[in-house]
Order: sequence, then C-alpha cells, then structure tokens
Amino acid sequence: MRTLIKNVAIATCDENDTLLERASILVEDETIAAIGTDLEVDATRLDRIVNLAGRHVAVPGFINGHHHLYQTLTRGLPAYQDAKLFDWLVGQYPLWAELTGEMVYASALVGLAELLLSGCTTASDMFYVFPRGSDVAVDHVIRAARDLGIRIHAGRGSMSRGVSAGGLPPDAVVQTPDQILEDTERLVGRYHDPRPGARVRIDVMPCSPFSVTPELMRDSLAFARARGLLCQTHLAETRDEEDYCLETFNKRPVAYMEELGWLGPDVSFAHGIHLAPDEVVLLGQTGTGVVHCPSSNMRLASGVAPVLDLLAAGSPVGLGVDGSSSNDGGNLLAEARQAMLVGRLRYGPGFSARQALSLATRQGAGLLRRPELGSLAPGQAADLALFDLDRVEYAGAAVHDPIGALLLCQPTAPRFVMVAGKMVVEAGEIVTVDLPRAVAEHNRLARQLALAPSV
Ligand SMILES: [Zn+2]
Repeated sequence: MRTLIKNVAIATCDENDTLLERASILVEDETIAAIGTDLEVDATRLDRIVNLAGRHVAVPGFINGHHHLYQTLTRGLPAYQDAKLFDWLVGQYPLWAELTGEMVYASALVGLAELLLSGCTTASDMFYVFPRGSDVAVDHVIRAARDLGIRIHAGRGSMSRGVSAGGLPPDAVVQTPDQILEDTERLVGRYHDPRPGARVRIDVMPCSPFSVTPELMRDSLAFARARGLLCQTHLAETRDEEDYCLETFNKRPVAYMEELGWLGPDVSFAHGIHLAPDEVVLLGQTGTGVVHCPSSNMRLASGVAPVLDLLAAGSPVGLGVDGSSSNDGGNLLAEARQAMLVGRLRYGPGFSARQALSLATRQGAGLLRRPELGSLAPGQAADLALFDLDRVEYAGAAVHDPIGALLLCQPTAPRFVMVAGKMVVEAGEIVTVDLPRAVAEHNRLARQLALAPSV
C-alpha cells in the first residue's frame, strides 16, 4: 500500500523543530518512505493520493503517556467535581468495585476514540481496579485498541495494599502479589510485542505508594526488568501522598522509590509535581521519566510539575491526559496547549508552542522508549494527524505560523489521522468503529454503574 499526502505544511518534530511548507509525505505500508518539498513520485505506483487543497498541517501522531480509560464511565460525577485526590479516590473506589469486563471494553473504546479524534495515535493506559470475582481484565482494553486501530501501551496496573493493611483502597479491589504477577505474565505472553512498530505492548504499573506494598513494588520492577518491560507508577502528585510516605515509610516519595530501586530510564512517574530541587536532579541523572498531566493537576488542585527543570536535568518528560474522571477530557492537543499555558504561569512567557508540541510528540515517544514514533522522517512509523488550518479557529494565525496556530488557538479535531499507514479518521470521522453506537452503549453502562447497589 502506497499513499502520497500532498500539498501540506509538515511539523516534523525533529530535534530542530523543522517546519516544511507545501511538502509531501510518501507512506509505504506502515512506514514513511520519503518526505520533502520536492519529492518525485511515480503516480502510477500509488494506491492513494491525498491532495490537500487549502491549508493543512501534518504533525506526528500524538503520544499519551498516562491514562485510566475506565474512568470515562465516572467522569464529571457531581459528588466529585470539586474534590482533591484522596477524597476523590475514596469516594469513587466503591463505584469502580462494580466494574465489569463489558464496562472496561466500552469505556476503553470511547476513551481511545476521543484520543484519536484529537490526533493521538499511541496511548498508554494504567488499568488497576480488579474487583474480586469479576471478569475485568486488561484484555478488554487491548481489544478496544485493536478494534479502533490505535497503538496501546496497556499497563497492567495493580493494588495490593487495602484499608486493612494501611492502604487507601477498600480490600475488595486489591489482589495478592501472586495473582498480579501471574496475570501480568499471562498478558505479556499473549500480547507484548517488543519489536519496533509494535501495536501492543504490556507495561508494568503498580498504582501508587498508598495502594501497593513495598514488596510488590520491588517484585514488579524485578519482573519488568527481567523481561525488558517499562514500569510506571503515580508519584509526587499531592501533599497528602507526601505525608503518607513520610508517616508510613519515613521517607519522601522519591527517596522511597530510590530505596526500592525504582529509578532509571525504564521507569516513569505520573505527575511528578512535588519534587525538591535535589530530587529533580536525581530523576535527571538516572534518566527517570515523568508524565506531565496539567489538566488533571489543575482539576484536582494538585499543583504544577517543574517540567522545564526536569527536562534541563535530563528526564524524559511526556504528556498525559490522566484518567477521565480528573480531566475530564482526552484531548492531547488541548493537553499540549494546557501544558504551554500553565508552563508560562510557572516559568514565564518563554514556554513555547514548539516545546509544548514536542512534549506531545518526540518527548512522549522517548518516554515510552519508542524512537520510531513521535517525529516525521523517512523510516519512522506512518503515524500522523492532519489539521485543517482554514477552520475559523485558526483564522489569522495560520497564515503566519502553522505550529503556533495549532497550539495557541483553540484546539480542533484533525481531518485525517493515520496509524501505521492506515487512515483511521477520514473527514473528521472514525472509520473503524460505529462511534455513536459506542457512545450510547457506554452511557448506558455509565448510568448502570452510577446506580450500583454498593454505592
Ligand atoms: Zn493517574
């Protein structure tokens, strides 16, 4: 399959943030074969030509570094609209304890569709609620990603420290370390593809210091390292978590992680807000990644991560929308804009549109250790989104700078999204699944969950 995309501005998101004007991209099967302003292509050997009249900009498919797709079922619940993290969690755990496999699939399908419709082509998800006796499994998330045609880093999340053992979650949603690691092994054997261009990878994601025992944290890391898998957990998100770590482990969160060996380029922390300067240096020196989730961090009033300090120290930093109950949206372009705007509050006006775009693309790919993603160049995966700059939202701005327009103006949905050489969004619509039907089914299940008997 050979597709030529013609007559488009291209934000390559390479190291120099190169912008090509009136350029073309030649895609062969799942890979970009050529890119440039003067491509000579034999039209008789093409299967499809996408000739973009008017003004469009192509960007690498965005990378979402942190999510809880199942929370799409409980987003915007009135009781938790104004809560901070621990109250928000304790209130919703009993609801999530009623999850079914059908709900996990329906919410993943809708949450991933929302991401795709913002230009996101690779999503990392941490699924960590496994109610006792239910048919809930990470398999449902992977099935939804495959049905849609989006790449997934399916995180096998876990919770092993319930209330009776001094943790935050109810005992009904925690599992034993043996159950957790056996299921992770099963998922790796069944789905994990270590090759470049993989559609599915399994990452190891014990949830947080307040829901996982130190033993499981250590065992999860050893398990992952023996198999070359990535690890992620929540860290330094709130002052409450910091107090919990000081009271329970007599250490600040980063020191606790250091004691467990949880630092390194195969490790990332979601949030990384409450970090002391020496902790930022330590994360940088060890190449430990941080997923910046600005909307969620503002929504729960958690704080603002020191993104530029982390990058300067050498940490890979990506972007995450975080779970849908705490954003409450799954739009990567909006998240990049949010990162830029809140970055300016923290660092002044120098946090540029290009820096924000790089977090959503090249930097996010680095965080997931996917060098074939996150930039547009020959040999890279053919993952991209095309935005129509003739839309009213970009009027004025796009004639000067397509990248500035994309980040500074109000986010719009892309007209086309390609994943691994295949168009999954055409003329602004997802072509792989019946989205209105998926939303209706999801909303039926969301209502059913909100009426669950335990709540
Ligand atoms: Zn999270």
